[in-house]
Amino acid sequence: MCVHAHPDDESSKGAATMARYVDEGVDVLVVTCTGGERGSILNPALKGRADIEDNIAEIRRDEMANARRILGVRQEWLGFVDSGLPEGDPLPPLPEGCFALEPMDIATERLVRLVREFRPHVMTTYDENGGYPHPDHIRCHEVSVAAFEAAPDGDAFPDAGQPWQPLKLYYDVGFSMDRFEALHAAMLRQGLESPFADWVERRASWADKLRPPKITTRVPVGGWFERRDQALLAHATQVDPNGWFFSVPLDLQREVWPTEEFELARSLVDSELPEDDLFAGIRTTEEPA
Ligand SMILES: [Zn+2]
Repeated sequence: MCVHAHPDDESSKGAATMARYVDEGVDVLVVTCTGGERGSILNPALKGRADIEDNIAEIRRDEMANARRILGVRQEWLGFVDSGLPEGDPLPPLPEGCFALEPMDIATERLVRLVREFRPHVMTTYDENGGYPHPDHIRCHEVSVAAFEAAPDGDAFPDAGQPWQPLKLYYDVGFSMDRFEALHAAMLRQGLESPFADWVERRASWADKLRPPKITTRVPVGGWFERRDQALLAHATQVDPNGWFFSVPLDLQREVWPTEEFELARSLVDSELPEDDLFAGIRTTEEPA
């Protein structure tokens, strides 16, 4: 079970890992906390179109349906409203009724219900800083951790189904500095223009709001980069198809950084670190899926 803040986050963080596990027969469920109603339109070809702006919630549902099919995952909405990324100094208040302002118990109970229905062995979410300083990403972390802890507790949310104990909780490490520096250097070595200068600068401006990841797990997924990119492109309003994400040749990515990284945050099983499999320690005694 991969818990994400907005539609498109599942395709930019850990998507190749999900596609690989789906191909290996694992049942993968994406939980999307909000409808992404306040996402900016980042595709220059679709900017400024009233027919898109007026129907953004519906369009994002359709985009998510396409991404879900490409990745081969199941998907559920948690049903909250996007908080938007507040910008300015001072920051404006969050909009009324948004996910980040919902009481924790309401959101946690909804996720606990899904955990008890789907019964995942492994859950993924973001670290305590959200991996990126968006209020919905931080809230996604808080709710995921709370649900991981409450789902097995029969006294917690007794109306939300039979207790279930997930065995491992990971934080996605989608955007580590090391990964981008390695790709940046490889692009320059090949005489290609690196798209990462802006990105590194933006990242540096968040330095006090983030922490370096403690990578425990590197899943080899070079063979699934095409699927990852196709899924992200399915979120057509949210990505620039000519943007940095797509400007590093896939063969170069496979050579320089063929893995996706995770940080093991909670575990009830023994596994030797570093790992190369999110199910390490879980399926060693069974037939592999
Ligand atoms: Zn997001």
